[in-house]
Amino acid sequence: QVPVICIDGPSASGKGSLAAAVAAQLGYAVLDSGALYRIAGYAACARGIPLHADHAPELAQVVQEMDVAFVGETILLGGEDISLKIRSDTGSRNASLISAIPAVRDALLQFQRDRARLPGLVADGRDMGTVVFPQAPLKVFLTASAEKRAERRYKQLISQGLSANMTTLREELHARDLRDSTRAVAPLQPAVDALSLDNSDIGIEAAARQVLSWWEE
Ligand code: C5P
Repeated sequence: QVPVICIDGPSASGKGSLAAAVAAQLGYAVLDSGALYRIAGYAACARGIPLHADHAPELAQVVQEMDVAFVGETILLGGEDISLKIRSDTGSRNASLISAIPAVRDALLQFQRDRARLPGLVADGRDMGTVVFPQAPLKVFLTASAEKRAERRYKQLISQGLSANMTTLREELHARDLRDSTRAVAPLQPAVDALSLDNSDIGIEAAARQVLSWWEE
């Protein structure tokens, strides 16, 4: 059995940085499942398909046919570098909309499970512990205050050379969390056996140390 560590939590709670830090320590790969929904949203929009349940069969088909390559930090869709485009506010919103469609989630399920290879995987997202890897021995539910999350997201966007506005970001994060946690399929919620970690007031190193110490237990 391939060891899998799940890190789930709301938008901009620091899952990606924590997953990368833990994976680097253990020599494991990382699955950024949010990126898959972002790519899916982008691919569907590029084909002009509305991100609505009425179009579920076409959306699922687009997802199945996506030609995605992860090259280091770079994400290619059909050879086009979309790494930055999918991180925009529109990219976030489209990911959240398409991810509420069950057929789309089903289409991505096996792809995600196939990422689990030796020596191990750190998977971050919303339903890693509840749906994708329910047997994982360590599930972390990562939280941070709404203000900290908006601040971190702001800094992240600015550092990528993208534009950002704190008020809009707060509203967008709130709307996205609400949609992600109230949707009918795979809503954002901690797995029953998840350990909670609030990283509002601790840095990435401290958060990674906590996860690694749970892993060693
Ligand atoms: O993690 P990230 O912010 O990149 O995720 C973008 C969106 O993708 C989330 O708001 C959520 O709607 C969706 N998502 C999901 N399930 C996951 C990961 C992300 O539904 N496992």
